[in-house]
Amino acid sequence: MTEAGRIVIVGGGHNGLVCAAYLARAGRKVLVLEAADRVGGAAVTREFAPGFLVSAPAHLLYGFDAAIERELRLAKHGLGYARRGLRTVAPGDAGALILDGADVVAGEVSAADRAALVEYVQRQRRFAAVLARQNGRVPTPWNLARFALDIRCLGRAGMRELLRVGTMNLHDLLEDRFESAALKGALALDGVLGAKLGPRSGQTFFTSLQRADAHSLPRGGMGAVTGALAIAARAAGAEIRVASPVASFVVSSGRVSGVALESGEEIAADAVVSNLDPKSTYLRLLGARHLDAEFARRVQHFRTDGCVAKLHLALDGLPEFRGVPADALGERLIVAPDCGYVDAAFDPAKYREFSPQPVLEITLPSIHDPALAPAGRHVLSAIVQYAPYDLAGGWDEGRKGLFDATLAVLERHAPGLRSRIIAAELLAPPDLEREFRITGGHWHHGELALDQFMMLRPVPGAAQYAAPVDGLYSCGAGCHPGGGVMGNAGRNAARVVLAALRRAPAGGAA
Ligand SMILES: Cc1cc2nc3c(=O)[nH]c(=O)nc-3n(C[C@H](O)[C@H](O)[C@H](O)COP(=O)(O)OP(=O)(O)OC[C@H]3O[C@@H](n4cnc5c(N)ncnc54)[C@H](O)[C@@H]3O)c2cc1C
Repeated sequence: MTEAGRIVIVGGGHNGLVCAAYLARAGRKVLVLEAADRVGGAAVTREFAPGFLVSAPAHLLYGFDAAIERELRLAKHGLGYARRGLRTVAPGDAGALILDGADVVAGEVSAADRAALVEYVQRQRRFAAVLARQNGRVPTPWNLARFALDIRCLGRAGMRELLRVGTMNLHDLLEDRFESAALKGALALDGVLGAKLGPRSGQTFFTSLQRADAHSLPRGGMGAVTGALAIAARAAGAEIRVASPVASFVVSSGRVSGVALESGEEIAADAVVSNLDPKSTYLRLLGARHLDAEFARRVQHFRTDGCVAKLHLALDGLPEFRGVPADALGERLIVAPDCGYVDAAFDPAKYREFSPQPVLEITLPSIHDPALAPAGRHVLSAIVQYAPYDLAGGWDEGRKGLFDATLAVLERHAPGLRSRIIAAELLAPPDLEREFRITGGHWHHGELALDQFMMLRPVPGAAQYAAPVDGLYSCGAGCHPGGGVMGNAGRNAARVVLAALRRAPAGGAA
């Protein structure tokens, strides 16, 4: 590899753009090839009805690495916030429960529960901070040792507690600590969002740590994050080509030596970095014939079926939610009235049915960011859980059923909302798969569970961003530390590629 050698990044999602920016800043010649006619992948702002813009599918920023934001100077490149630190608001007939981190701002919650919440949130933050440090590292044996040391530094009691609760389900944990059903429902939601898990599923304590950070609304929607990343990458010298779908990786003499576009064009590269999900990377663009049979089998069995749909509504005015004060409408609204409701919503997914009473995470971003909708009108964006990819009976039949079920739940909490709808779209997992080119339409490019985590993610043999075939790397959400708009996979992958290039003789990275 020479300084002039080209690195091709396939996919311009946020991780691909982060990777491109760091590689270009290190003086490498970088070309990003994005299939869609815009960058951003699953974190874009798009018009879904004339004049109505929505963040799709991701709608809240909560785990983005502050170091990446600072190092890539994203504020200078246009990233700003319409609102930071959203509260969580659960509507209810007897008044809403409103949480601001560890504070219960409103709601009938006992003094014991208030005290338990402070303790719970503090513990979540301590454990999440340990995880966040590991998120920013390549999962090498050395970094695993650092992770173990970080856990040890929690102190004897902290370490014991983490080991005790680490694989627990949230239901049991919450039952153990809280009395308020509404509080337990709200906290349970954070362990299951984006996952095919219910609050009684093992590991939901672990998944809840991903949501310990505050939630924010970027000004201009999630596309503002990826837009700023693209500017940062270009400013560092990267070239980005949109509307350039890659059909396959070119393999010669046992190494990936470039890419072939669907247009027929071939581009040589000293290293190729894939921002695609693992199944697309290994089975579609590379091909199982270039892989060891056991490795290919493991990739095939990487669990990628999404379980979340996304609803977008264009509204002719602001709805009213039962018990929610007008000044709290712009917060993070949730429908997860108790743990049992969330659990019951999950049950049908086990049998390939959608939930007739889905769990919802709702935002009305145009309250803080009026440019997203025409004057006086509003956008509602909702995560709709549970909606299994492989729906029995198929989504052609099922889409309307889930839409009606979701509106019925919304209407119950926001009477009259239905009459305010000007336009609507519901993206079921196969729609997400098609539009955003993610196998299974999965939030994390593949289930985030302990057996698909850290040095096991996506599968052993590819967990440190390098593929088992020379010249190929991955940087997407299917790698450690998983999905959500964090940027860590992109930055970690850039480090691995740079280290390999420094070691490699002219002609490419191992
Ligand atoms: C319904 C839903 C809601 C979500 N909500 C949130 C949320 O509120 N907050 C949050 O933080 N996260 C959320 N997520 C998760 C988050 O959106 C993703 O985990 C994250 O965007 C993945 O980023 P990425 O860069 O790794 O991959 P992607 O964003 O998937 O980017 C991959 C890129 O590769 C491109 N590509 C694919 N195939 C090719 C090809 N052959 N040639 C060239 N380019 C190609 C794609 O077009 C895409 O641009 C949500 C996900 C879903 C599905």
